[in-house]
Parts: sequence; C-alpha cells; structure tokens
Amino acid sequence: MSDIVLSMKGVEKVFGAFRALGPVDLDLRAGERLGIIGPNGSGKTTLINCITGVYRPDKGSVHFEGRDISHIEAHRRARLGISRSFQIPRPFTGMTVLENLLVPLDYCHVDGSREERARSVLSNVGLAGRVSDLSESLSQLELRKLELARALVGNPKVLIADEAMAGLSEEEIDEVLAILLALNRSGVAVIMIEHIMHAVMRFSERIVCFETGRLIASGTSTEIAENPLVQKVYFGE
Ligand code: ADP
Ligand code: MG
Repeated sequence: MSDIVLSMKGVEKVFGAFRALGPVDLDLRAGERLGIIGPNGSGKTTLINCITGVYRPDKGSVHFEGRDISHIEAHRRARLGISRSFQIPRPFTGMTVLENLLVPLDYCHVDGSREERARSVLSNVGLAGRVSDLSESLSQLELRKLELARALVGNPKVLIADEAMAGLSEEEIDEVLAILLALNRSGVAVIMIEHIMHAVMRFSERIVCFETGRLIASGTSTEIAENPLVQKVYFGE
C-alpha cells in the first residue's frame, strides 16, 4: 500500500444542483503513468481541481503520501509535490522565458541558485536556446514546453498534464511525449489528461475513462480500447 502516492476516496463535486464529479475512487502509484480520458464535460478538469486544491471536494477525501490534504490550500499542496500544467498556457508577457520561471521559483524551496534551477528545467524541456527571448515570441509548441517547465520547477512528485498536446502536430506531440517520458523515468508520477488517443495510449501504463463525472472503465491501453463502455462513449452504439 505504501507505494500509493495519491488516493481519492468517494470524491464528489457539485455546482448548484449539478453533480460535475463523483463519487470517484482512484489511486495513483508513485512513479506511475496514468492516462485519463473522457468526453468534454465528463469531469476530468474538475477532478484535477479537487486534487490540486482549486476546489475542495463536497464529499470524500484526497490523500497525498498518506496524509489527508482535502482541506488544505492549493499552494500548500503544490509545495508538498503536486503540480499541474494548464490546458491554456498563460505566460507572463513582457518577460523572458527565464524570468517566467523565476516568478514561480519565488514560491518554491530550491537547493542552490534559483537561476540554475530555472535553466536546468528549461534545458530539460528543450528551451535552453530560448531563455533570453520574450515569452510572446514563442511558438505554440514552445509555449506548451514553457508551461511544463513552470509546472516542473518546484520538483514535484506528481505532475498532472491537462491536455498538454491539444492542437499540436504529430511531430510536436512526439516531442512532448518524450519530455514527459524522460520526466517519468526520473521518478515523477504523471497523470496525462488527453483527447489525443494514440498519445495517451502510448504513454500510459493504465488508463481510466470518465463519463458524466463517473469513472466508467480502468485498464491497460489495450483493455480500454476494447472496453464496450468506452467504445459506446466514444463511438456510439
Ligand atoms: P472536462 O475537463 O472533462 O471537459 P470539466 O471537469 O471541465 O470537464 O467539467 C465537468 C462539468 O462540470 C461540465 O458540465 C462543466 O460545465 C461543469 N463545470 C465545471 N466547472 C464548473 C464551475 N466552476 N461551475 C459550474 N459548472 C462547472
Ligand atoms: Mg478539461
């Protein structure tokens, strides 16, 4: 049991009379690569918001490394080691790529120099050659890389990538996949929320599928592809 890093039990989130999520039970193992799929509006981002502390669940609990974090604030969850990248990157404009990383580093504990840490993370995501350029000069792919770097700068144990590849070309998708695989090899557990099915299938050791806020299937890529409930959700009957 001790290799479970993140554990959700009976997590529910309602907006008014609308139940956007749950109840959901879901565990993540240390160092695991977990894919989350599901149609638009199925509650994927709401789940992430409950994990990261944007929302407090209305029912149920979220445990991180054995500790109940359901009611602690988002910035403290980030400090514990839960980080997420956003679907739509919003870098600080008028700042260089390096400066964009120095801002979140103000809120992180780092051994050694902040600038060295920032440069090293930027190099890991393939932005070493862009450190001095303004963020508004970045391509769509580079913006995604910067968003990942921002999420990684505090050295998280869990990274949640919310649609980090949407709108990218096949080659660009391969680049982002390579970054996430290398990160995972360094020991970081990764939750990949993604609509690009071949990417999430290549990446994930396990995939769970959501529909209308509920977890309807869980298994390997092959099991998920062959699951009748998943097929029904994606392709109709
Ligand atoms: P997904 O990420 O799977 O596309 P979301 O988690 O964003 O889905 O949304 C799940 C459902 O909850 C949707 O019907 C969405 O409209 C609703 N929802 C999400 N956030 C809010 C909110 N802050 N207020 C009201 N409804 C919301
Ligand atoms: Mg979403």
